[in-house]
Amino acid sequence: MTETTETDQATETAAEFTAEDAAALVGRLRAAFRTGRTKPLDWRVRQLTRLRDLLTENREAIADAVHADLHKPHAETYAAEVDFTVREIDHTLENLPEWLSPQPLAAGALTGLPDGSTAGTRYEPLGTVLVIAPWNYPVQLLLAPLAGALAAGNAVLLKPSEVTPATSAAMAALVPRYLDPDAVAVVEGGVPETTALLAQRYDHIFYTGNGAVGRIVMRAAAEHLTPVTLELGGKSPVFVDRDLDAATVAAVAARLAGAKFRNAGQTCVAPDYVLTDPKTAPALVRALGEAVAELFGADPQSSPAYGRIVNQRHFDRVAALLGSGTTAFGGRTDRDDLYIEPTALTGVRPDEPVMLEEIFGPVLPVLTVSGLDEAIEFINDRDKPLALYGFTEDDTTRRRLADETSSGGLGFGLPMAHLRVSELPFGGVGESGLGSYHGPYSIATFSHRKARLDVPLG
Ligand code: NAD
Repeated sequence: MTETTETDQATETAAEFTAEDAAALVGRLRAAFRTGRTKPLDWRVRQLTRLRDLLTENREAIADAVHADLHKPHAETYAAEVDFTVREIDHTLENLPEWLSPQPLAAGALTGLPDGSTAGTRYEPLGTVLVIAPWNYPVQLLLAPLAGALAAGNAVLLKPSEVTPATSAAMAALVPRYLDPDAVAVVEGGVPETTALLAQRYDHIFYTGNGAVGRIVMRAAAEHLTPVTLELGGKSPVFVDRDLDAATVAAVAARLAGAKFRNAGQTCVAPDYVLTDPKTAPALVRALGEAVAELFGADPQSSPAYGRIVNQRHFDRVAALLGSGTTAFGGRTDRDDLYIEPTALTGVRPDEPVMLEEIFGPVLPVLTVSGLDEAIEFINDRDKPLALYGFTEDDTTRRRLADETSSGGLGFGLPMAHLRVSELPFGGVGESGLGSYHGPYSIATFSHRKARLDVPLG
């Protein structure tokens, strides 16, 4: 529960991390930023390269920690935590000089000013950034924002989730070994520590997690007029169009199951529920059951490819949602093992518990609607989702979903793939979040775009 430095590794924990400790730490980071050390491109490239080393040289240790916390298969950690973040870093290293280059305005924009005037914009770092991460992708969601904040030239304070303690400890031990300890620090801990941290002034706060805490973060930030990015969640719907042939329905089911049941459904952009017509629903549910068997065998509990719910509190919450509708397949649970079987529910009413909160677990309700009009209305009656997915072969349906709904991201054909495209912004809208990041959007998030005008004196 303390800041971890190179000499004071994660194993050593202070009795209490107070607001005074937080103030001293933030003061130290701020002082480092004031020296200007984080601004040169060389420093940024060096930090990104070292962050890359941290990930590649400790792949196994990281995967072991994530497995201890979430039973996440090593292959999943390599793909979604380590390699994902490495790709994000590589893409940033490749493009950083270009992203940072000042953008001059065309001369035509300067009419009315003396001849020889020039103007343009350039990014400057914000200063000291606080990154607060959640437990479900405890490496990626801590280190991908860190990569963006470093690339933009900031000092950074990291707060991993206490819900995944092994990963938190691993991050606290590794970060000071690889990154500039004057400009990057880790504080482990839960609510008291985060509360102490949030009492300080930062130049940006980047929070990933649920909306209730998002509100706490935004309130604390308002005290200091600190800008925030809120990467939140919510119910991400899927629309499956009518009249898809049997082979296409099978392919849709395989992609849906792959996205929904990865990490036992604990993914912010996981499909939350499906809307389809009454004719397609039975075939889709059957195909989903087959896809689950293909992925995890007849007994997912004994499959090394299937994860667990993070803790008993979340287990109890998700298990309670199994009472909605009718169980089409799955439904078995084992509390001692934090196991919930991949499950599909049919005949679910919109006012049942499973439809009233983000599921964040391996339970997929398949609801029927009369067609696209009703699906769009259903989606628009609810909070703006983090992601919306469509499976259709019809251009008009694609256009209407794009034009007539609002969501953080929109993906056709392959759920959760849009966030792997570094040049796309990743973030929510409305209840699903505020701001975005990845690739060039991380630079925009963690920088100030300064206007500059040069008028000749003569
Ligand atoms: P969590 O419980 O780990 O909380 C997130 C962070 O908030 C932690 O670091 C925690 O210490 C801190 N925190 C918790 N309570 C606090 C309080 N009272 N005051 C200050 N800080 C506090 O994670 P979670 O919120 O359960 O994460 C799951 C949620 O996050 C889901 O809603 C999911 O959709 C969302 N999510 C969003 C994204 C995204 O990129 N948009 C990614 C992952 C998860």
